Amino acid sequence: MTRIGIVGAGQAGLQLGMGLLERGHEVIMLSNQTAEQIAGGRVTSSQCMFDQAREHERKLGINFWDEACPPVEGIAFSLVGEDGTSQMSWASRLDAAAQSVDQRVKMPRWLAEFEKRGGELRICDAGIAELEELARECDLVLVASGKGEIGKLFERDADKSPFDKPMRSLALTYVNGMTPRAEHSAVNFNLIPGMGEYFVFPALTLNGPCEIMVFESLPGGPMDLWDPRASAEEHLETSLHILKRYVPEEYERARNCTLTDQQGWLTGRFPPTVRKPVLTLPSGAKVLGLGDAVCLNDPITGQGANNAAKSAAIYLDSIIANEGKPFDAAWMQATFDRYWDYAQFVVGWTNGMLQPPPPHMVQLLGAASAQPRVAHWFANNFDDPRGFFPTITAPALTEDFIKEAA
Ligand SMILES: Cc1cc2nc3c(=O)[nH]c(=O)nc-3n(C[C@H](O)[C@H](O)[C@H](O)COP(=O)(O)OP(=O)(O)OC[C@H]3O[C@@H](n4cnc5c(N)ncnc54)[C@H](O)[C@@H]3O)c2cc1C
Repeated sequence: MTRIGIVGAGQAGLQLGMGLLERGHEVIMLSNQTAEQIAGGRVTSSQCMFDQAREHERKLGINFWDEACPPVEGIAFSLVGEDGTSQMSWASRLDAAAQSVDQRVKMPRWLAEFEKRGGELRICDAGIAELEELARECDLVLVASGKGEIGKLFERDADKSPFDKPMRSLALTYVNGMTPRAEHSAVNFNLIPGMGEYFVFPALTLNGPCEIMVFESLPGGPMDLWDPRASAEEHLETSLHILKRYVPEEYERARNCTLTDQQGWLTGRFPPTVRKPVLTLPSGAKVLGLGDAVCLNDPITGQGANNAAKSAAIYLDSIIANEGKPFDAAWMQATFDRYWDYAQFVVGWTNGMLQPPPPHMVQLLGAASAQPRVAHWFANNFDDPRGFFPTITAPALTEDFIKEAA
């Protein structure tokens, strides 16, 4: 039996922790929040998860919301013009539905499940001293602290991090009372050139089904009206004001919305950052990062929780394959590299989406509006963004792809 310490009880840490327990390992989880604090706190994410990521949860039997959570059945795209009308649009069904379960619902339930399955939970805000202590107690220590400060101990990898400042000012607004989308449910993604993006989709929150509005405003631009000191009601007002002014078609669906609860909103910004995965503690002990702690993406492509689930699954396999051997720095780097073999495509695509779209991407989006096969390809690549490559990397490849699809 191996004893493994994990800092951070989020998607990555808890999923990995429960996977390790299932394999008979001893797991110590350090969380800086109790289940009650998470459930009673602010929303953290829009956490839309696609089928491959959800499969990792199904395998562990921790997919507790399949019935209760409304499905996200497709992806819809609209390029919104200056006058607020849609200049180009398409929609396509996902081959398998996605789902978004509010992390205030999910993580408290998973924390209870982790303890029920024999995991040891310690509530503390871990710093270097706690990492050192964990390293003395455990065969392997992992840091899955998301955007928590402790993650900044891992060195930023400048080669893999093209941006050193936030590329979007972010806002979440969880609402009830949205008019459902016609045809099928979807992530309704609206690109508003020069302003930012707005997307909206169904989810499950504390008091049942809801819709989550996600605003990606260009920092300092006309849609960047967010004030973290605002009241919940003022935040909703700003959300509706932006929709009415810049995305009137979406405003029509949203005009009668109310907030799901006083904590159902968030604003913030951060630079997308990839970090070197191995941290050396003052004692010389090594710890390994996973999830957002070492690979933090802008939410524009809705991939962070998917990445966290996939990294937890890859790390679990790598730990199992290493049973009986030391978890040294070389093993740690190789484990992250296995994840990076996948994640580099997600990071590349996501960072590309943060820039004005080059002409061949606009051409591709136009092709999707004319050809259902291209729209289907677009939508289903959210489940595994490697599918976008190499097509999106060069105009000639895009053109070949469009011709073939026709
Ligand atoms: C606005 C927004 C919208 C998003 N939308 C989506 C989406 O639609 N789809 C998607 O896939 N992803 C989305 N994401 C990203 C997604 O939420 C994250 O990528 C995902 O939650 C990362 O999981 P994680 O386990 O790495 O970290 P987290 O979920 O952040 O978990 C880390 C945990 O560690 C704890 N912690 C931190 N520091 C310490 C410490 N020192 N000691 C102990 N515990 C600590 C934290 O409290 C937290 O509980 C979105 C993010 C944002 C900000």
